[in-house]
Amino acid sequence: MFKPTFIFKIALFVILASTLAYGQRAHPSKPTETGGPLLPEQAAFDVQTYDVSISADPKTKWIKGTTVMTAKVVNSTDTIILHLDTPYTIDRVFGQGTDRQVGLKYTRDGGKIRITFPTRKQKGETFETIISYSGYPRVAPNPPWVGGFIWAKTPSGADWISIALQNDGADLLFPVKDHPSDKPETATMRITVPDPLVAVGPGVLDGTVKNSNGTSTYIWKMTNPIPNYSILFDAAPYRVIKDSVKSITGEMIPVEFYVLPESFENGPKLIEETKKYNAFYEKYLGPFPWRSQKLGIVETPHLGMEHSTHIAYGNKFRYNEDGLDWLMLHEFGHEWWANLVTARDWNDFWIHEGFQSFMDTLYLEHLGKKDAYFTAMKGRAKATRNIQPVAPRGEKFSYEVYLQAPDYVQSDGDIYGKGAVVLHTLRYLIGDDAFFRSLRRMAYPRKEMETYTDGRQQRLTDTDEFLKIAQEESKMKLDWFFEMYLRQPKLPKLVTAITINGTASKVVSMQWETPNNMPFPMPIDVVVDGKTQRIEMKNGRGSVTGSNPVVDPNGWVLKTQ
Ligand SMILES: [Zn+2]
Repeated sequence: MFKPTFIFKIALFVILASTLAYGQRAHPSKPTETGGPLLPEQAAFDVQTYDVSISADPKTKWIKGTTVMTAKVVNSTDTIILHLDTPYTIDRVFGQGTDRQVGLKYTRDGGKIRITFPTRKQKGETFETIISYSGYPRVAPNPPWVGGFIWAKTPSGADWISIALQNDGADLLFPVKDHPSDKPETATMRITVPDPLVAVGPGVLDGTVKNSNGTSTYIWKMTNPIPNYSILFDAAPYRVIKDSVKSITGEMIPVEFYVLPESFENGPKLIEETKKYNAFYEKYLGPFPWRSQKLGIVETPHLGMEHSTHIAYGNKFRYNEDGLDWLMLHEFGHEWWANLVTARDWNDFWIHEGFQSFMDTLYLEHLGKKDAYFTAMKGRAKATRNIQPVAPRGEKFSYEVYLQAPDYVQSDGDIYGKGAVVLHTLRYLIGDDAFFRSLRRMAYPRKEMETYTDGRQQRLTDTDEFLKIAQEESKMKLDWFFEMYLRQPKLPKLVTAITINGTASKVVSMQWETPNNMPFPMPIDVVVDGKTQRIEMKNGRGSVTGSNPVVDPNGWVLKTQ
C-alpha cells in the first residue's frame, strides 16, 4: 500500500468528506414529495409574501401556527392548491374579503389543501389566505437529507429545536406552494419558543417580544426572495457573535453567528474562515448576494444545510490540515449556487450541488494547490455512478434526482461529484477565460445585477440557460457536450490503439465510443516525447505520433475509467 503524499491526503480529505457526507448515503426512509409536476391550481398564482407565525413546545413536540400568504393571480381561477403535511390539523382557512376576513371552502387530499374562492379571481388580482393549523410535526428520519423536525438536546441538556426541509418541502412546517419555481418576494417568521431559547430565522431580526407565559417571540424579516426550504428556524439557548466583513462592492456585510454557549469560544475562528470563503466566492462569482440582510450562521444538531442568510452549521468546528472546514465552505457557497441562482425545477438540482462541489474543489487551486485540485477531480471521477442522468429532462420531485431509483432510500451523489467533474471537463474544453466568464455570468447574468440588494439580483434558472451562456462565451457549439454528460447517464469511452508507422514511430489512434453513437468531438491531451499535445477529435477520432504516450495525465476529461 503506497503512502499518500501530503497533497494527495488534502485532496482525498476534501473528496471523501463531501462524498461521504453527501454522495452515496443510505437513508432509513424515502423523503416525502416536494416539487414535481406543477399543478394548474399551483401555476395559477405567484406567491408574493409568506408571514409564518409558529409557536413550538419542545416538551410536547407540538406546534401551532398561522400562515398568511399574499399572492398575485397569473391565470384566472377560483381554486388554488397549497401543501401542508398530513400530521397537522387545519383549524381554519380564511381569505381577505373587501373589508374583513371570510372563511374559505377547502378540502384536504393527503398533503394537498384545495381552496375554493367564492368568486373567480382574475389575472393580476392579489389575494390573501390565512391558514391556522396545529399538530405534531413529522420528526426527521435522517436530517438533513430526509427531513422534518429535530427535537434535540444541547450538550448541557437544554432544548435544541432544528428543522430540515430540502428533500421534503416546506409543507412539513407551514402551508406553502410546494414548488421550487415560486420563491416569495419576502418572508416573515414570528417564532415563539419557551425562554431561554432564542429562535433564529432568515433575514434581519426585526424584534423580540417577551410574552407573559415564559415564552418569547422572535420576528425575522427576509426582504429578498428566498427558497421555500430556507423558510424555517432553529432554537436553542444561543449566544450570538456579531462581526462584519467588507464585500467587493465596498459595502460592509453584517455577520451573525448563533452558537451554543458551549461553542462560544469556537465561533470567532469559524467566522474568520468564512470571511476567507466569502472572498473566494466573491472573486469568482461576484458579491455576496444578501448584503441587505446578513451573512448568518446557526449551529445545528444536524450536519448542515444552505438555509439562506442563516446557514445551518453542524460540523462541530472540525478543520482539516489546511485549516479548512469543508462543510462551511460547501454550505456557504450555496448562498450563490442555490439561493442566488435557484433551479426552477428539481431536475436541475445539479446547478446547486454540482456547481457547488466544483467550487469546493476549486478552493484547493485557490489555495495554490493545483495538484490537489487535479487529484480531487480524479477522485470524484472515479466515484461517479452513471446510472441516472445528472440533469434529466422533465419535472421531477426532489427525491427522484437526489436519490437512487427505484426505492429512493440511497443517495445517488452524481449531481455532486459528477456535476463537478462535468464542469471541470467543460473548463478544459472551452478554456479558463471562457469558462470562468461563464461561471460568473451564470451567477450574475448582467453586470448591474451585482449592485442590486433588493431581490432583483437572484433568479430561477435551468441547464439550458447555462448551455446558452457557455456557448456565447466560448463561441463554440456545446449541445453535444451537455447531451453526453448531463442528459443521459453513461460515460464516453476512449479507445486507444498504438501502431508503428513506416518510420517506426508509434502512432496513438484514439476514438470515442459513445452510447447510441452520440456525437462527441471531445479533444484530449496526450503527452508524447514529454510534451503535452491537445488532440482534436473531430468526428470522435484523432491520432498522434510519438513515444511514451500518456493520455490525459491531469484527468481533464470525464470518461470511463
Ligand atoms: Zn450542497
